Amino acid sequence: MRVKFLGGVRTVTGSATLLEKDSFKWLVDCGMFQGNKEIEERNRNIQSYYPKDLSFILLTHAHIDHSGLVPKLVKEGFRGKVICTKATFDLCEIMLRDSGHIQEMEAEWQNRKHQRSGKIEVIPLYTVKDAEESLRYFQTVGYDEIFPMADGVRVCFRDAGHILGSAIIEIWIEEGGQEKKLVFSGDLGSSDQPIIRDPSKIEEGDVLWLESTYGNRLHKSREETVNELLKIIQEAIRDQAKVVIPAFAVERTQDIIYTIGQLIRKGFIPSIPVYIDSPLAISATEIFHRNSDCFDQETQELLAGGENPLELPEIIYTKTTEESKAINEDSRSGIIISASGMCDSGRIKHHLKHHLWRKESHIVIIGYQGEGTIGRRLVDGAKTVRLFGEEIAVKSHIHTLGGFSAHADQKGLLEWLSHFNNPQLEVFVNHGEEKISIELGEIICQKFHFKTIIPQWREKKILFAPKEIVMPEMEIPEKVMPEEGKQEIVPSLEMLSVLFRHLDRNYKMLRRKLRNLRSRGKEVKDPRWLRQLEEINEKLEKLESEL
Ligand SMILES: [Zn+2]
Ligand SMILES: [Zn+2]
Repeated sequence: MRVKFLGGVRTVTGSATLLEKDSFKWLVDCGMFQGNKEIEERNRNIQSYYPKDLSFILLTHAHIDHSGLVPKLVKEGFRGKVICTKATFDLCEIMLRDSGHIQEMEAEWQNRKHQRSGKIEVIPLYTVKDAEESLRYFQTVGYDEIFPMADGVRVCFRDAGHILGSAIIEIWIEEGGQEKKLVFSGDLGSSDQPIIRDPSKIEEGDVLWLESTYGNRLHKSREETVNELLKIIQEAIRDQAKVVIPAFAVERTQDIIYTIGQLIRKGFIPSIPVYIDSPLAISATEIFHRNSDCFDQETQELLAGGENPLELPEIIYTKTTEESKAINEDSRSGIIISASGMCDSGRIKHHLKHHLWRKESHIVIIGYQGEGTIGRRLVDGAKTVRLFGEEIAVKSHIHTLGGFSAHADQKGLLEWLSHFNNPQLEVFVNHGEEKISIELGEIICQKFHFKTIIPQWREKKILFAPKEIVMPEMEIPEKVMPEEGKQEIVPSLEMLSVLFRHLDRNYKMLRRKLRNLRSRGKEVKDPRWLRQLEEINEKLEKLESEL
């Protein structure tokens, strides 16, 4: 069978693997690339996903870096089935819509800018309507049910303990009279995460795709982290101040609600107002309520005892912008949980603007902060940050709490891996920054003697052939890795024609400027002009002969 690594390799986002058995093609995950402009450009060129020829997309979980390109694939002709757990479907329903909304907003914002500078119109990757349309193709399965997907292909979803509904996917393949087993770890949770169950242990497999987000890190213990949060809340209550927590809408927000609830239930803090100021987080919390069968035993017991672990005595859900603004008019101490988790968009920005400059306020960072985000700047100790065009002084307390992560750390990943009992196991280390995947791969090799591979983006492989054959990717030009870690994009014709329009426009502007200079009787004095134009001309001629 053939495998193609389409994303989530040597990077965290864009998870997608194409699998091919005879003429039957399917994907495991279909995530959006997120980060810098260059990597996000990959979202536009998805012909190598074969949207029209795919029979299935199996989703490990609802996070956008695993599910975010489903609407785009449907838009490009995918008519198969998207298979996932029920909770993943419920979450995808709100998250894909939200993602469509973000794509629309993003395009609108860019178009406003482009209009002013005369550039061409940007089309959103997909819209809310596209996202809604894609939901028609979803089909849900329960955990631990083995089901046939095609002739000689069986599949099973096991709990991955990462977010509600998240799954490890096992795939059994019959090839040449033999059965082989593939395992996709998806994103693996850590074992002390509240509400949801611990990751299922898998003991058998021939080939494993293993995530490595925190493959080089050890998290602080949950107990230590909760104690740190307790101290912060106690201090804020003493000073009548507010605690602002930027949090991802799914899982992290519910995790914090649960933890604050525990602190109140155990009598460590009195009841204080807790504002959930993120429409997506509010919908996500409702989905948690609907999927309590995914909860772990401790949470189930709380429910059975009549306690709702996702309720608090003074929880305030703010849906409208007016309600959101009113939070900061309340002079009592309180906790504000808002998105985005990396502080670069959404309502959290308003709360930061209101609290960053106040000495008594607390900002608590609990999740991963990507490079270049406001959250990362705060963690790195910035003295000021720019919000809504204004420079805001950072005077409040900034805390970083590591123990609330939804990903297993290095110890957790190795522990999970230690249950595999096949010494011939091959491990593809994915879903991590390049350096981290390589580091984890080396440790796995030393510790378990498993063969580890860090795939390249768009690399093809043949599995279970008598001798392993590595297929070079024909579509990639020779220069795959121009500079450290940066991979070159293979452009679509659509991308090229956009560039040509830019070229046309720039060329005309240049001509106009030259005409103006001539009509004013001026001369070009700078010798670079001639040289540069000559170079451009040469390059164009060369390109024309190559195309
Ligand atoms: Zn995830
Ligand atoms: Zn992920």
